Amino acid sequence: MGKMSYIHYLCEKEDRNGLIEEVGTDMADGFLEAHKTIRKNKENKAYKKLNEIVDKSLKAYKKAFVGKDCVICGEKITPDPISGWEHGCNAQPVEEGECCHKCDKEVVLPARLTEYYSRLTTKVTE
Ligand SMILES: [Zn+2]
Repeated sequence: MGKMSYIHYLCEKEDRNGLIEEVGTDMADGFLEAHKTIRKNKENKAYKKLNEIVDKSLKAYKKAFVGKDCVICGEKITPDPISGWEHGCNAQPVEEGECCHKCDKEVVLPARLTEYYSRLTTKVTE
């Protein structure tokens, strides 16, 4: 499974922040826009093949990650109680891989915020 599967997956759940982390802001918006166009034109013949490719890619991602253990606490990743999203969350910058929703809220988000603020602070003091 290549990186593209992960990018499709981020597009599918419209995780702009996750995409920015992967490919940078400019490309993230490009990917999101392209993904939306592909999905919107599902019935259009020209986009049919592209939709198939995206679906295949998402399936590959699902196969690789559903039912995985959280890379932070080691618990099985369960569907999000609110959104029903059955995959884990991107554990970056804490760990490489997928973490559960609990760790996402309690560990990863605070870590991202800390990183974000330290970057801001660096910018200000430069
Ligand atoms: Zn966890």
